[in-house]
Amino acid sequence: MTKTTAPSAPVPSTHDAGSPAAAPGSGGRIKTLVILGASGDLTGRLLLPGVARLIASGRASGLSLVGAGSDDWTAARWQERLDKSFAEALTDDPAATKEGRAELLRMKKASRYQQVDVTAKGALGELLKTVEGPVALYFALPPAISEEACKVVLKKELPPGTRLVMEKPFGSSAASAKRLNAILARLVHEDHIHRVDHFLGKSTVLNIMGLRFANRLLEHSWDSAHIEKVEIIFDESLTLENRARYYDHAGAGRDMIQSHLLQIMAIMAMDPPATLGENDVRSNIAAVLRASTIGPQGTSDFTAHTRRARYTAGEIGDRKVPNYLDEEGVDPANGTETLAEVEVYVNNWRWAGVPFILRSGKALGRTRKEAVVTFRPVPHLPVGFKGADSPTRLHIGFGPDTLTLDFDVNGPGNLFTLDRVQLEAELASNPVLPYGEVLDGVLAADPLLSVRGDTAEECWRIVEPAFAAWKADEVPMADYPAGSPGPEGWTTSQEE
Ligand code: NDP
Repeated sequence: MTKTTAPSAPVPSTHDAGSPAAAPGSGGRIKTLVILGASGDLTGRLLLPGVARLIASGRASGLSLVGAGSDDWTAARWQERLDKSFAEALTDDPAATKEGRAELLRMKKASRYQQVDVTAKGALGELLKTVEGPVALYFALPPAISEEACKVVLKKELPPGTRLVMEKPFGSSAASAKRLNAILARLVHEDHIHRVDHFLGKSTVLNIMGLRFANRLLEHSWDSAHIEKVEIIFDESLTLENRARYYDHAGAGRDMIQSHLLQIMAIMAMDPPATLGENDVRSNIAAVLRASTIGPQGTSDFTAHTRRARYTAGEIGDRKVPNYLDEEGVDPANGTETLAEVEVYVNNWRWAGVPFILRSGKALGRTRKEAVVTFRPVPHLPVGFKGADSPTRLHIGFGPDTLTLDFDVNGPGNLFTLDRVQLEAELASNPVLPYGEVLDGVLAADPLLSVRGDTAEECWRIVEPAFAAWKADEVPMADYPAGSPGPEGWTTSQEE
């Protein structure tokens, strides 16, 4: 086994490619981050720790933070929340610098909380009058409240250069995503809208693009003539973890495949962009998604091209896991899948006929987050070679970011017998948390890693017919014991 390690230089905060689509007068770095839904779960668990790590690492300075929520919180209660969420960045973060920590403490001390009902006419506008622009307005609110807030706020109430940061889910269908896009388009230019996909971390996106577009060897075999299939797999051992209120309505399909996995697939399948500017990159991502369907174009056979399953009781390590249907808050009538798999076809010259198999699920025996590219067999293996002629496979691991190439070589022992080796490399990773990466782009006014409006609609358009077939029970619900690799009959449950 050959092992190579990537240099551990920090990933720079912003890329230096141009952004041809940037609107004139788009404004510079964000001065104030306003978090709407400051008392919520996302803010406390993910967003504030992400901000803290980013600032502590010295990548964002001079930022003001305002928290807003419908409850009447005292200044002390807000500071208490910041203390808790910032604790790790202040004490236990190897990427933090002395100056970064001092900056974080300064920002924390100056941060304030404001009570506001964002659905009341004029309320958000009043809050925005009191903050320094340009502002990033982070909607960490229930989706219906975010939509209502965007409907009632007026364009003239937003300070120049305002950026809107929208959480997932973005709509619940192609039609509702389109409606939401139209509401947002009334307020700011598209490149000032950040639809968050925290799986589209900078290292994930840039590592795939660097690997593909900086190596002539790979790009020349990156098509249907040489590639048999591409699998993108996000299996986790986590179970429901008390999130039935959200998950039992979403399921693995809506939670993971509709958003994150389709976006990663598009980066795996896109044509080379001329620059790393957001317009070039996101336009090429959009072209892939526009060409994509579940099953070959025109199919309505979703039994052949999609699979769904739900976990039953089992064990993960020494943890006993109940049947999903017995988990608190789960309604069997929702018919929720905890593992989903779809075969997407990108119907264009490069990819016609190649399945992109997207799979994600919970309560599996091992965490597996990777894209696996399986190359076609050689056209002719010289007669005389013995042993298994296995396909060449490239694995791109996500978190930790790794690269593994499975190759057939001769020996050892008998030079006529083929054997398998793995060439492994560690890829560069970003020391800030996923939400730090998201905010890094927002604060630098760079939408490169944000989901563009048209692709948010396309992602729903791709999955909707399959989800309708699942709802109509046209595709059987398989099961798998918690802690297992998944249903036995699924190829992806068997492959390494
Ligand atoms: P919560 O229900 O925990 O929090 C919602 C927040 O919205 C609360 O702070 C609440 O304030 C506030 N709020 C509700 N109504 C109003 C209003 N009219 N005016 C002002 N504030 C209001 O939700 P989450 O934090 O879990 O989720 C927020 C968003 O993030 C959702 O879109 C979700 O899909 C997304 N998300 C969440 C993840 C998670 O792990 N939690 C992961 C990925 C995405 P108050 O309590 O004062 O009413």
